[in-house]
Amino acid sequence: MSKTIRVTVWNEFRHEKKEGSEPAKLYPAGMHEVIAKHLSAQPGIEVRTATLDEPEHGLTEEVLANTDVLTWWGHIAHNEVSDEIVDRVHKRVVNGGMGFIALHSAHMAKPFRKLMGTTCMLKWREAGEKERLWLIDRAHPIAEGLPDYFELPQTEMYGEPFDVPQPDNLIFISWFAGGEVFRSGCCWHRGRGKIFYFRPGHESFPIYYNETVMKVITNGIRWAAPSGGPEFVQDWYAPIEKLD
Ligand code: ZN
Repeated sequence: MSKTIRVTVWNEFRHEKKEGSEPAKLYPAGMHEVIAKHLSAQPGIEVRTATLDEPEHGLTEEVLANTDVLTWWGHIAHNEVSDEIVDRVHKRVVNGGMGFIALHSAHMAKPFRKLMGTTCMLKWREAGEKERLWLIDRAHPIAEGLPDYFELPQTEMYGEPFDVPQPDNLIFISWFAGGEVFRSGCCWHRGRGKIFYFRPGHESFPIYYNETVMKVITNGIRWAAPSGGPEFVQDWYAPIEKLD
């Protein structure tokens, strides 16, 4: 049995609007359009996009109620995301079972930090160095169809320690030419929802045109889709057996 997965691709969409900038050249219509285009071509996935500057950041109650998995890219405007929308996203994950995919600099996105409960800080360096991503958990659904490792010729470096709670599943570890390592693919459960953090995606390199990167994101979406488990009962509860 397979059910269509309704994905909302959310993007801050600010870097790409700076005329003449590298992100504008790489993603003239925005990163979200490139990601959405790839996802739309995958069987069983239905896509819409939402961006920061839309009313309610494009994440109305109605949009979220009809979203199975939300992907999130943000970097320079995390603080412009309203707390009301953050709470709405958080609730939809924890109570509603919506999957949440945090991409690259979304490690500092408000909804991700709220879901993690830690600072989510890390080391970084923008030197265009090579990254090698090693696949660690081969039994995990996200590993489907992936190679032993893959490389990105030019990336921004993220280094450990990455201040997140111990992941439930560690899918990838990255090595960088400068010597650092990083847990670049991590999974967590939060309430009824599933969260996948995936590191690649710096705005000045053509990362979201990379087939393997997009395969990982697609697999992550399929994994993070709601499981359909029962809703929480967190209230007074009648005894099932007759009590004396
Ligand atoms: Zn970056």
